[in-house]
Amino acid sequence: MTKLTGENRIVQFLLDRYGIKSPAIRKGIGDDAAVIQPRNADEYMLLTTDMLLEGIDFRQEWTTPRQLGFKSIAVNISDLAAMGARPRFFTVSLAIPSGITERWIREFYSGLTEPNSAKGALLIGGDLSYSKNGIMISITALGESTNRRVLYRSGGRPGDLLYVTGILGKSAAGLNLRETGCIRPRSRSQKEAIRAHHLPEARCEAGKWLAQSGLVHCMMDLSDGISMDLPRMCAASGVSAEIRLDKIPIFPESRMWNCDPLELALHGGEDYELLFAVPKTKRQLLEMNYPSGFTKITPRGEMIRGEGTVWVVESGKRRRRLSELGYDHFRS
Ligand SMILES: [Mg+2]
Repeated sequence: MTKLTGENRIVQFLLDRYGIKSPAIRKGIGDDAAVIQPRNADEYMLLTTDMLLEGIDFRQEWTTPRQLGFKSIAVNISDLAAMGARPRFFTVSLAIPSGITERWIREFYSGLTEPNSAKGALLIGGDLSYSKNGIMISITALGESTNRRVLYRSGGRPGDLLYVTGILGKSAAGLNLRETGCIRPRSRSQKEAIRAHHLPEARCEAGKWLAQSGLVHCMMDLSDGISMDLPRMCAASGVSAEIRLDKIPIFPESRMWNCDPLELALHGGEDYELLFAVPKTKRQLLEMNYPSGFTKITPRGEMIRGEGTVWVVESGKRRRRLSELGYDHFRS
């Protein structure tokens, strides 16, 4: 059995109790989004939800209301991107404490509905409430498949190459700046890191392209760090994986403010990049056809036979198990 951490264990309990019970459900609990097949519809609908709590997921001192709105929808849209879906609609439930101004509300909703945050999804409803303990935001987003081509976390096979889009650990480097009291970023790389932390952009275009390409076996988005998320994809696919440390796409500039870029890339989380597996025989086809305007991709590792373990390979050293140090809400 794969070792399950707190959050994973609760999801497993829910999966056991509320596993698929209707033919209309293509995918229920346990993936980036649920996939349902409405009657007489040509396409699947995809449904995902995410919650952001003040003090847990964000601090008001570190973020503007516009940035908060932007990130709140982007993290939901990222789950749709992870399955190759087109974002269509979303609802927002918001609980606010006293002291929140009308201007705050206006800016928050502006951030929620920007082209780069909502990626075309339209706000169609929600709920408002009062909170005694900080701001609470809950968003549900609805997406639509194209040609019913959807990518799941399952489907990876031994021998598949593992790719990620973009750079990992940049958002965590931005969070580190905030945590160490950096109010005004100075250098270009500091600004870049802070931006990655507050204004993450879902990889919708890449996700759609990859799903339509027919070259990809499985995909997910990286929200909790590769050390947490890759074991999830491996477990869903019934395989293990090996990643090469020298191939992990790090943000080296964070060394300048005393971060370890590799640690942040492995365990930092909130990168919202895509992680996907492609059979070795399709490597050339993928790399030749992948649009040059999208974030660059290079193989970072490989799926191997096993039961959900992720191994780290470093040249000249024995391979070792990657510990799951990424983000888990239920680890103290
Ligand atoms: Mg996800």
